[in-house]
Amino acid sequence: MKSQLEKLNEEIIQCRKCARLVTWREEVARVKRRAYRDQEYWGKPVPGFGDPKARVLVVGLAPGAHGSNRTGRAFTGDASGGFLYPALYRAGFANQPTAVSKNDGLTLHDLYIAASARCVPPDNKPTLEELHNCQPFLERELEILNPKVIVCLGRIAFERILKIYGIRDASLKFGHGALYRLGTASPITEHWLLCSYHPSQQNTLTGKLTVKMFDDIWAKAKALLQTEDEVIEKLDMASG
Ligand code: SF4
Repeated sequence: MKSQLEKLNEEIIQCRKCARLVTWREEVARVKRRAYRDQEYWGKPVPGFGDPKARVLVVGLAPGAHGSNRTGRAFTGDASGGFLYPALYRAGFANQPTAVSKNDGLTLHDLYIAASARCVPPDNKPTLEELHNCQPFLERELEILNPKVIVCLGRIAFERILKIYGIRDASLKFGHGALYRLGTASPITEHWLLCSYHPSQQNTLTGKLTVKMFDDIWAKAKALLQTEDEVIEKLDMASG
């Protein structure tokens, strides 16, 4: 029997709600980049990927035109994934540092990757309406996984999560390494929102996001999976 996540991913793949993005994802898949002209592009919405029992949910922006819009798997086959997966591997969330195709043997442990929009947008910029259209998929992933830690890659993902949780607190600002507790539950059921710069080339080639800065995010995510006493101790040590 199919799991809830498998059923959800089938729905995502069939979605054609945003006319502009349907046209664009298919156009990119038809025209192709010269280096990939012999490959068949995915050209559809990109579903979530990872461990169905994950306690960490990563929320990205949207598929890359010649990355996941080509390969059909999140952050696979482009420079952003070339920065993300080695970091996940070093942190123990991935079994290998490379991600080139759906059949490359990559598996994730305790981590699942979702996105704010599932279809590649022109200029990497989904409209507010498109983000709104796509939000129910992310909401359902949150319901199914009930993650302990949500890692937002970039401001758009951060704002989407605040919207889903109905948080209007202006003191919550996006910044690399910013960490917020969602709710005031017990140490066992508490949830965390952790912000990171997106691993796009715009950030990694300019030094805005370094390997060390990114490794620190995943180390923090791991620390947050411990009990609250351990978390407080580690955060005190890090800030002390
Ligand atoms: S962006 Fe989301 S809502 Fe819009 S067509 Fe793609 S999958 Fe559907």
